[in-house]
Amino acid sequence: MTLEFLYRQPVEIRFGTGSLASLGETLRSLGASRVVVVCDRFLRARTEELRQSVPEIAGVFSDVEENPQLSGVEAAVRLIRETNADAVVGIGGGSTMDTAKFAAAIARSDAEAIAYFCGERPFPMDRLPMIAVPTTAGTGSEVTQVSVISHGSEKKTINNPAFMPRCAIVDPMLTVSVPPRTTMNTGLDAMAHALEGYWSRNHQPISDLTAIEAVRLVLENLETAWRDGTDLKARENMSLAALLGGLSFALPKTAGSHACSYPLSERYHLPHGEACAFTLDSFVRINADERLEHLARAVGLPDTDALAERIRELKRLGGLRTKLSELGEFDLDAVCREAAAHPLMRNNPVPMDEAALRRMFTALQ
Ligand code: NAD
Repeated sequence: MTLEFLYRQPVEIRFGTGSLASLGETLRSLGASRVVVVCDRFLRARTEELRQSVPEIAGVFSDVEENPQLSGVEAAVRLIRETNADAVVGIGGGSTMDTAKFAAAIARSDAEAIAYFCGERPFPMDRLPMIAVPTTAGTGSEVTQVSVISHGSEKKTINNPAFMPRCAIVDPMLTVSVPPRTTMNTGLDAMAHALEGYWSRNHQPISDLTAIEAVRLVLENLETAWRDGTDLKARENMSLAALLGGLSFALPKTAGSHACSYPLSERYHLPHGEACAFTLDSFVRINADERLEHLARAVGLPDTDALAERIRELKRLGGLRTKLSELGEFDLDAVCREAAAHPLMRNNPVPMDEAALRRMFTALQ
């Protein structure tokens, strides 16, 4: 079979400790003069400090919640319109970056956010440039055209070029304050992105390379970053792992573990990373093939079993849930039905119907 693929990565990436200091220069290079910063309450004070060195900041929207809601997007859009902003900066974890992406994409239109959420209107061509500044090391949202937003209990992953950030400023210093449990959740999310991009049916050689390096970095640094959040080298390597993880799934998309994460998050309120990690080691065993054996050896492990075992160990170490009994009353039928029907399940290299998922989940009693 001949090789064919399309690779595209339009985001300008500035990586490095202290790189947040380049925000003003980045804004000026885009010709932006009035910007709205989107963040969550935890980062409000930090963002206020930024105003001293970045006079272009015209407003701060700091009410982003975890599992962000469309109402947050609407409020950010109102502020962008009121301040007549010409760029948006999202400083925070995936929840914040995804809110900022959605708001920047639609702020110049006159329609309501719900029309775009429901797919009633195509995203406008005329949109504001968005700068993504991650403060967790996990989602890779800084380099993807994905925004995950909920409306009520409906959580939607929308994949649209309108969401592609113009620039990513990845400053590992910003992750030093992330608490251990979130460090573990988000670090395993980065691992899931890399592995799922690698084994996705749409995998391709450039993403394969970033995936292998991302997995290696997570294996070598996540436990250290979890034990000692002030270890700057480990934090730097985890920020790089998350960025490379984002590049690994941006085009191939994710697969089985992410498909299962949606019912797990929606029904049992697991944070995104923990929900993906819940089945990740199971999928390593299910999807094990020659390519995955190659990855395992390339990251210094004897085989795919050792990779699955190490993921399980990291989950246990971080206090993440690993058994159905820890989730409360588990609705096996509903979870298997919803996961099997999720579009990302079609990317899994091994076909997984409800019966196969039932076997997988039953082994996690
Ligand atoms: P998050 O953004 O929800 O943040 C988790 C918690 O960490 C929050 O309480 C936040 O205040 C806190 N936090 C963030 N930065 C901190 C810091 N530096 N110090 C201390 N606390 C900090 O978590 P996340 O895992 O980064 O993002 C998850 C969201 O991203 C989910 O909604 C998920 O679906 C989405 N996601 C998006 C993509 C994408 O490509 N767009 C990819 C994966 C996940």
